[in-house]
Amino acid sequence: MTERRILQSYLGGRWISGTGPAHTPVNPATEEPLADVRGEGLDRAGALDHARTVGGPALRALTFAQRGAMLRAVTDALQAHRNELLDLAVANGGNTRSDAKFDVDGAIFTLAAYADLGKGLGEVKVLADGEGIPLARSPRFHGQHIMVPRTGVAVHVNAFNFPAWGLAEKAAVALLAGMPVLSKPATSSALVAHRMLEILTEAKVLPDGALSLLMGGAGDLLAHLGPFDVVAFTGSSDTGETIRGLPSVIENSVRVNVEADSLNAAVLGPDVAAGDETYEYFLKDVLRDMTQKAGQKCTAIRRVLVPADRADRFRDDLVGRLQGITVGNPALEGVRMGPVATASQLAYVRAGVALLARHGLLVFGRGEVQAVGVPPGKGFFTTPVLIEVESGASAPAVHSREVFGPVATLVPYSGAAAEAAELIGRGRGGLVSSVYSEDTAFTAEVVLGIAPCHGRVFLGSAKIAEASPGPGTVLPMLVHGGPGRAGGGEELGGLRGLSFYMQRVALEGSRPVIEKILK
Ligand code: NAP
Repeated sequence: MTERRILQSYLGGRWISGTGPAHTPVNPATEEPLADVRGEGLDRAGALDHARTVGGPALRALTFAQRGAMLRAVTDALQAHRNELLDLAVANGGNTRSDAKFDVDGAIFTLAAYADLGKGLGEVKVLADGEGIPLARSPRFHGQHIMVPRTGVAVHVNAFNFPAWGLAEKAAVALLAGMPVLSKPATSSALVAHRMLEILTEAKVLPDGALSLLMGGAGDLLAHLGPFDVVAFTGSSDTGETIRGLPSVIENSVRVNVEADSLNAAVLGPDVAAGDETYEYFLKDVLRDMTQKAGQKCTAIRRVLVPADRADRFRDDLVGRLQGITVGNPALEGVRMGPVATASQLAYVRAGVALLARHGLLVFGRGEVQAVGVPPGKGFFTTPVLIEVESGASAPAVHSREVFGPVATLVPYSGAAAEAAELIGRGRGGLVSSVYSEDTAFTAEVVLGIAPCHGRVFLGSAKIAEASPGPGTVLPMLVHGGPGRAGGGEELGGLRGLSFYMQRVALEGSRPVIEKILK
């Protein structure tokens, strides 16, 4: 028997193997073991120190334009290995080729966007935050807010569903800001992130200590956080809560950003008739969000609000499309939806469906499926599942349980904007919700009703259908995150994202001196 490959960590500027029990990422379609990860015996404290003392100074010595050029080199290196990364995402992520592109190309696109932002900021190391402020009658006494890189390390803990994008979207922002990164991918889908690090270390596009990778569990990593470190976490609310409550985080006031669950909603306006262009667009986006990456997208539409007098037609149209989705081995052409990531995710999806079904009718999919192109009984497959609740039913689980799989609930409503906003608000804070309507007054009422409890609101209309990738795609120019259940975090948003990794400082003194510092 050949030994399985061991995925090493890249810590302290070198590749290093852990010890202890092996965790074995598998192909979720076939359950074939792909590699072993051993996370014990790694000097996590030393790795954080190396990032702080070697990576940090090297990054801070660069201007924003130079860091932008560095991100451009990272982008180019990954682009050169794109096909290999796509293959790994198919094998280890249960992704169809198109799902894999969503992750890998999303990573490359986001890095490129931040490379451009760096170029635009120019040859400076300090950012002015707003205009200077006269502080007295004398024009010499002056105030100015500035932003400087924090001197600690940015620890990034990522979820299993976007191993490439998750690593890239966080690292791009931190590195441009001037902070070194220690990234910890989810163990079950770690092969893509691991290969990305191999590519980047082989290409030598980053200074020593700028980007480290921890394979395996977090262990005592976060116990070693200091006052100038930050943590950006994506994953479940429970883990987010644990991280926020760690003594090291509390005692050192460590900045923590949490991206967690979300019960994203999409509402069809009462002005949209079945068969309209906007209706078709809505249908297409709901179908895509249910099935893309087997519904394992934090931004996927989970609650579908349709005027009650159109619910029958919409259900039939959506069910018709869902019937055309081939579930199977994502490596095969013609397969439209692969498995979920792990056996435990599948169990979690099944339990979630059972819970939702207590509040409504299972109108499509029972979960069990003979997946195409896999040995019988293998793989973590489910059908897409559509549940429908009665108009006016309170159905609390529909608004509180995120089923992280190809599952959505049809929620008929009266067609009133206020009711739609109230129903959406029951999700207690979300990443993104959407309004599909050509009626500006209706759109505005829903948008303003739900804006306070969301990080992003998508205005779906036939006018943007051609150009838009839909609400499920996170664009680097716009903020990603949301209040309440969604974790209370905020990432990306172009230059806005930098502020998490930088210290805002108010300078108060002589104007010429302050202006000199800013140059
Ligand atoms: P999870 O169990 O919380 O794991 C997420 C990450 O946290 C993994 O890297 C995991 O490592 C690590 N982790 C687990 N326990 C930890 C601890 N005590 N200390 C430090 N790190 C720890 O979440 P998941 O089940 O993988 O992810 C699915 C959830 O993520 C869904 O609920 C989804 O909504 C959410 N999500 C949110 C977003 C967003 O942007 N808002 C995006 C994607 C997913 P191991 O893998 O080694 O256990």
